Order: sequence, then C-alpha cells, then structure tokens
Amino acid sequence: MKPFNFIKAAGGTQTVKQKKRTGRFIAGGTNLVDLMKKHIEQPEELIDISGSVPASIGKKAAGIRIGAMARNSVVATNPDIIAAYPLLSKAILAGASPQIRNMASTGGNMLQRTRCPYFYDPTLPCNKRNPGTGCSALTGDNRMSAIVGWSENCVAVHPSDMCVALAALDANVIITGKDQLTKTIPFKNFHRLPGNTPEQDNNLPADALITAVEIPGNAFQKNCFYLKLRDRDSYAFALISVAAALHLNGTTIVSARLASGGVAHKPWRWYSVEQFLEGKQANAQVFQQAATLVQKEIKTLPHNVYKATMLQGAIEVALQNCLNA
Ligand SMILES: Cc1cc2nc3c(=O)[nH]c(=O)nc-3n(C[C@H](O)[C@H](O)[C@H](O)COP(=O)(O)OP(=O)(O)OC[C@H]3O[C@@H](n4cnc5c(N)ncnc54)[C@H](O)[C@@H]3O)c2cc1C
Ligand code: SF4
Repeated sequence: MKPFNFIKAAGGTQTVKQKKRTGRFIAGGTNLVDLMKKHIEQPEELIDISGSVPASIGKKAAGIRIGAMARNSVVATNPDIIAAYPLLSKAILAGASPQIRNMASTGGNMLQRTRCPYFYDPTLPCNKRNPGTGCSALTGDNRMSAIVGWSENCVAVHPSDMCVALAALDANVIITGKDQLTKTIPFKNFHRLPGNTPEQDNNLPADALITAVEIPGNAFQKNCFYLKLRDRDSYAFALISVAAALHLNGTTIVSARLASGGVAHKPWRWYSVEQFLEGKQANAQVFQQAATLVQKEIKTLPHNVYKATMLQGAIEVALQNCLNA
C-alpha cells in the first residue's frame, strides 16, 4: 500500500474545504482500504469523517433522514426504519456480513465500487480503472455482468443491496459541495450508466461530501419484500436482486415499486412493470404477466443469458412474497 497522510475531518462545511483532489474521505473503510491494498486507489491523504459527518437517524415531517455515517447495521435495526421502511432494513440485512455491516456507512455503501473481477486485476484492461484500455468483461467472463443499460465500454453492475431499496423508495441524497453549499440529488439520478465515461460511477460532484439520505413517507410497510439470488447464501453479491413493494386497497394494487440489483451499472427501476401493476388485482396471474415485461428492456451477454429467466422468476416470486410479508 502506498504511504498516505491520515487526518480527522474538521467537521461541518470545513470538511469539504479540507479535501484535496488527491485525497479521499474514509468512512468505514470496508471498500476503500481493499482498493488501496490492490493499488486501485492510491490517495495521498485520508480524511476520517467518522466523528464529524452525522450518524443519526431522525424522523422528519415528510419522511426520515439518515446521516451518511449511520452504519448499515444501525440503520437496518432502527425501530423507525423497521416500522416505516422495512424494505430498506430487509435489503441491508441481505448484504455482506454482520461484521461488515457494523463498519459500513450509508454514504460509503452508495459509493462502493463495482465487484467486476477485471476492475480488481491491474494486469488486465479495464475502462473503469484505466480509461481507454478496453473492457475485459465484454468479451471475457461476463457471467455476473449487466443485462440492461450497459455500453461496450463497461458492462459492470453496481453491487449494493441497500441502494436497490433506496431507489425503490424514491430517496434523496443530501450533499455538501466544494462550494460549501447543500444540494439534493434525487436517488434515481445519483448513480449513472457507463456510456462513454465508465470511470464515473455516479453524479456526485468532485470532492463533494454526502451528509445524509432522506426518504419520503410511503404506504409500503405491509407488503414489501427483498429477494436476493446469489452463488451462496451469505457473504456474496447479488446475481439478481429485487426490491418489491405494493400499496394495496383490499386486493387492488394502488401503487407499486420495483427495483433490481445485479442487472445494471446503477440500481434499476422497472417503471413499466410498476405502471402495469397499478390498478390491477394482486394475484399470481397478474404478477406473472407483469414479470414478462422486463424482457423488452433486457440485452444479455454471452455468459449471462441465464439472468433473463432468473430475473423474470425473481420478480414474480418477490411480488408474491409481498402478499405474505
Ligand atoms: C467481503 C465483502 C462482502 C460484501 N458484500 C456486500 C453485499 O452483499 N451487499 C452490499 O451491498 N455490499 C457488500 N459489501 C460492500 C460493503 O457494503 C461496502 O464496502 C460498504 O458499504 C462501504 O461503506 P464504507 O463506509 O466502509 O465505505 P468506505 O470504504 O469508507 O468508502 C467507500 C467510498 O466512499 C467514499 N465515501 C464514504 N463516505 C462518504 C461520504 N459521506 N461522502 C463522500 N464520500 C464518501 C470514500 O471516499 C470511498 O471512495 C461487501 C464488502 C465486503 C468487503
Ligand atoms: S465491465 Fe467495467 S469494470 Fe469490468 S472490465 Fe469492463 S470496464 Fe472494467
């Protein structure tokens, strides 16, 4: 690992002033330190934000605010989150391991980098790690790669479980920019597709600090489910995940939310399926019809054709489980 300075964040808006382009904020360190060990990240300075960026979780008039330093385990077990946003709790608990969730922060989880194996292997071309060198996964092992929204420059997927629920719940990301001004980025615009600049995972401005995530109130408490399909039952990233939530009036679907992980460079909302479901009866036949709609959006790669069938089945099962939640 390359030597680096380690300093404590000054706190407040001073923290963003402290950060140089060659420095990095460090929260739980569960992704950044691994990247530093592999020389993929080589910051000259680490700014420890653990004591200064908010870690509190507080109700607001129109929802809830989660501090960016709130640890994943704390968010998942918070009584207000469990009561009003059980989908978020379920998604977080499907990720990583208890030890990692104890360290991982809300902001760091959103900014964790892809798990594409070529990204972690500096001996092989990777446009995300080294722009312009090519995408090894496009013609190599793309079994875990994207099936929607990819470009020939990058077929990686975003690895987070938590973010799939935040996408489904229409969260907002609160940031402080280098200009020390507070801005809000709708979650759906936070992560990005690879296009011609796969080195950029998201739309967070350079040197900006995430301070919190806000989630509006919703009516999805009773009928929601997070389904994660993976190679082993724990400590593995999603091949496919589905965050599903239904607001029911009797057996009629008033509104639906459906998002997936393991399918794209960003958490992916299935808007066409949500629209199809609204106003329909919540039953197996409708869920089966709804799940087929995703096929129109999918473009598989040679080694991940299986994901098309797996996704359709996962959506059906997740919707059905919303009724048994
Ligand atoms: C073995 C293993 C298995 C895992 N399995 C899963 C899984 O199944 N599902 C899943 O979702 N995740 C999984 N993870 C990933 C884990 O959830 C992330 O590593 C973690 O959420 C990152 O949070 P952190 O606080 O440790 O971030 P850090 O490593 O501290 O930081 C990550 C990045 O975010 C930046 N950053 C952090 N906080 C802020 C902020 N407030 N503002 C601006 N920049 C910031 C840092 O500069 C860095 O670039 C796994 C990790 C490991 C090691
Ligand atoms: S998919 Fe993206 S991260 Fe993976 S090798 Fe291609 S460019 Fe790199």
